[in-house]
Amino acid sequence: MSDRLEPLHRARRVLCVQPHYDDNDLGAGGTLAALADAGAEIHYLTATDDLVGVLDPDLPDDEATRRLRAEQHEAGAILGVHEQHWLGLPDAGPYDYYTLRNGIVAAIRRLRPAVVFTVDPWLPFESHSDHLRVGRATAEACMLHKHRRLRIDPEVDAAWDVDGPHDVTALALYFTTAPNACFDVGATRERKQRAIGAYRTQLTPEEVAFLGRGLEAMERRWAAAEPFSHGEALKVLAPGLLHVNLLPELL
Ligand SMILES: [Zn+2]
Repeated sequence: MSDRLEPLHRARRVLCVQPHYDDNDLGAGGTLAALADAGAEIHYLTATDDLVGVLDPDLPDDEATRRLRAEQHEAGAILGVHEQHWLGLPDAGPYDYYTLRNGIVAAIRRLRPAVVFTVDPWLPFESHSDHLRVGRATAEACMLHKHRRLRIDPEVDAAWDVDGPHDVTALALYFTTAPNACFDVGATRERKQRAIGAYRTQLTPEEVAFLGRGLEAMERRWAAAEPFSHGEALKVLAPGLLHVNLLPELL
């Protein structure tokens, strides 16, 4: 096992921050299922309402939200997700960066995860603004959440003040072209595929099949230099690397 994956294996609680309902599952579903199997408590925080991704243009928003959440719970049950949380920001729409970042800080303070997952916002050609904003805001939240003078929410902060700050030991980025670790998903990749199939409101059966073939090919490619057949590529960063690059020995 790669040393970089050690914080992931040690973590008893993991927070996975995603722009849309299915990103965590597509990018790291096999890894998260394996961590859940090993006893970690997996929490998902979905930043946007995901309504732009809904296939049916005539489906009312409240019914679309009901279906999206039901499908997310179905997928989460397959993978072993402990609890779903939402910020409800408008998908691909205008929202304030600091509202997003502070919502993530509040989740970190409330849930006290040892490891945080999110999309890689530095993916070279990533053009979806939700992915760019959520990845960056999550990285910044991992760096800032311990600062006591950053007050977020009276209720969350009051509870947090009792126990004080805790350490996030690693930020794991998925959808990355610069991985430094590969997680063996040979035992869980089939569950990931089934979980993706639950998102019927936003993926056609043809798209699910296409994604299945594409993900399988990528998992094989990522694991080419590993002693296992299928892996998920991750960029695992120590929080000390997330500001001004003064700790390059952590890379
Ligand atoms: Zn997305």
